[in-house]
Amino acid sequence: MRPEILFPLFTPVTALKGVGDRIAALLEKAAGPKVVDLLWHLPREVIDRSHEPTIADALPDRIATITATVEGHEVPPDRKRPYRVRLRDETGFMTLVFFHADKRYMATILPEGEDVTISGRVELYGSAKQIVHPDFVVLATKKDDIPPIEPIYPLTAGLTGKSTYKAVAQALERAPDLPEWLDPAYVAREGWPTWRDALGIAHAPSSEGALSPLSKPRQRLAFDELLANQLALAITRRKVKRQAGRAISGDKRLRKLVLKALPFDLTNSQIGALKEINADMALAQRMLRLLQGDVGSGKTVVALMAMLNAIECGGQAALMAPTEILARQHFETIAPLAEAAGIKATILTGRDKGKARRAVLEALASGETHLIVGTHALFQDDVVFDDLMLAVVDEQHRFGVHQRLNLAAKGKAVDMLVMTATPIPRTLMMSAYGDLDSSRLTDKPPGRKPVKTVVIAAPRIEEVVDGVARQMRDGAKVYWVCPLVEESETSDMAAAEQRYADLRARFGDSRTALVHGRMKGTEKDAAMARFADGEAQILVATTVIEVGVNVPEATVMVIEHAERFGLAQLHQLRGRIGRGDKASTCILMRSEQLTETARERLKTLSETEDGFVIAEKDLELRGAGEVLGTRQSGLPVFRLADIALHGELMRIAHDDARLILERDPELEAERGKRLRTLLYLFERDAAIATLRSG
Ligand code: ADP
Ligand code: MG
Repeated sequence: MRPEILFPLFTPVTALKGVGDRIAALLEKAAGPKVVDLLWHLPREVIDRSHEPTIADALPDRIATITATVEGHEVPPDRKRPYRVRLRDETGFMTLVFFHADKRYMATILPEGEDVTISGRVELYGSAKQIVHPDFVVLATKKDDIPPIEPIYPLTAGLTGKSTYKAVAQALERAPDLPEWLDPAYVAREGWPTWRDALGIAHAPSSEGALSPLSKPRQRLAFDELLANQLALAITRRKVKRQAGRAISGDKRLRKLVLKALPFDLTNSQIGALKEINADMALAQRMLRLLQGDVGSGKTVVALMAMLNAIECGGQAALMAPTEILARQHFETIAPLAEAAGIKATILTGRDKGKARRAVLEALASGETHLIVGTHALFQDDVVFDDLMLAVVDEQHRFGVHQRLNLAAKGKAVDMLVMTATPIPRTLMMSAYGDLDSSRLTDKPPGRKPVKTVVIAAPRIEEVVDGVARQMRDGAKVYWVCPLVEESETSDMAAAEQRYADLRARFGDSRTALVHGRMKGTEKDAAMARFADGEAQILVATTVIEVGVNVPEATVMVIEHAERFGLAQLHQLRGRIGRGDKASTCILMRSEQLTETARERLKTLSETEDGFVIAEKDLELRGAGEVLGTRQSGLPVFRLADIALHGELMRIAHDDARLILERDPELEAERGKRLRTLLYLFERDAAIATLRSG
């Protein structure tokens, strides 16, 4: 249960003064629904109001805080015209200008003859100085109400800076002094403030520099968040490891048959990865291992070998892919090899219905089927295994933590192998998985030619089409990827259909094919088949081809509006070509207007094909706050930490978490108890629940 000391922070923001339902809804959108969310809502900018000139010295276009006497009001005949108030000090006059001002209200806040202090941006109106709608207007006796350095919070439409500021101030008042959960020696060495002080300082930045994520208070807060993340992952992981697994170590008879049937030798990376996987499976613990390998590095064969190991031991194996196309492709690779090994492999996707589906399910439940490849359809409740031993999840670059667990629940102590095609920077991987074991495929199968990548401005599309035509005359197959239009699949589709019409007009019906996400499965298959094995030479597509399509003869890829895609996604797309032994070309079409980061992205891509380099660059470019589009990816979203900038802190938090649990596995000692408070503070309640006396 959450400790009482945290209760004031875990109440809805409506508990705060001046926060009604309307403002609460806005605060929720900007920060979150609870008081604690406001603590994590750090200012993004500051306005320096410490400049206090006389009227004569006030410079136009600068923020000034000025103390002067109200000389008189110039009330307009109607509200459409500006309301002016004249101020005077010993050096001169100036005017305050208000639109739609209420006369009575103006008289109360700017009483004639009184000294007032105002703050805002000074402008010149002709030769006179004025401030339109000053940000602060107070009596000179209340001058201290104007913050010399005003923090500016990320807002949302309808929310004012002032109401946010007031709500955050109250949240800070509620923040208790909490007993230190960090190692005091470490805190001292880093020169970090306590948690409470760090919050106070972070919300009252004294200058622009105090906003830096590398300032001491912000580092401290980031570290707390990262430690909570790493500790929670380590606790969960220890629990998984405690669950007995099954020692899986087959006699290799099936694997020998498949190796003989393969038209190639395994690469060194594949052999190395299999060694690690086999050793892991042989332990009487559950395996949870990541297999990372760039597109085309040959993960499927590795997965198949691991599955055969389980089948040799009398169990079943499942391979889950994120899309139908990909599931079919895996199946096509696996089916002939399974036949060579004399085992029964089958496929199940959302497309299988009725009788056919029932037959698949029966063979699976009886144990007749040894190996199944499928999509999410494998999660459905009526999918029952006789004895599932190994589940392989091909995530490409999605991270479906949830789904992974679902599949594991379909057997007893199922070993899990998760494949990803986009190499994940180490820090990011830690944030999502903590200590997850990982094997990497670093070398590509032999004979692959590098892909030449060029960036071409959009207006030169005619030249590109001509170039494509020349390549097609020499027999090349071409992917033509249409841009992401909006977040909507429909407009993506419309763009693809338009381009398809254009290209079909030029190259003819039979040579052109189209595939997009809205097509029926069978239509997609037909289009893909015409491209892979038929006479179609150019495949117009939305990003549905991103995941896993394998047509080794394809040697050209055109990507329209390449700047709209993320780096990882472009890399993934490009991986569709360069799979055969012929030289390939990738043409990135770009708009004429490019942002700096878009330019960097395209440049990176034209310079390297190394997925690990690209992944690190991606992290660096996306940096602050939008790492890998984390919300969609299933990666944790940090409020205070920025993985791109706080990578070193992440590594320390990771090691720290392990050490802590080695010494005090149930978090029962004095520091352990404090760390429980930290976990609750960052809402890692689920991890605590798995501890003894959780
Ligand atoms: P990934 O899933 O990692 O993107 P795949 O497993 O689809 O890659 O492999 C890509 C292609 O490389 C497939 O056609 C596969 O048959 C082939 N391949 C796999 N391993 C080797 C190898 N050791 N030597 C040659 N070709 C290989
Ligand atoms: Mg095992």
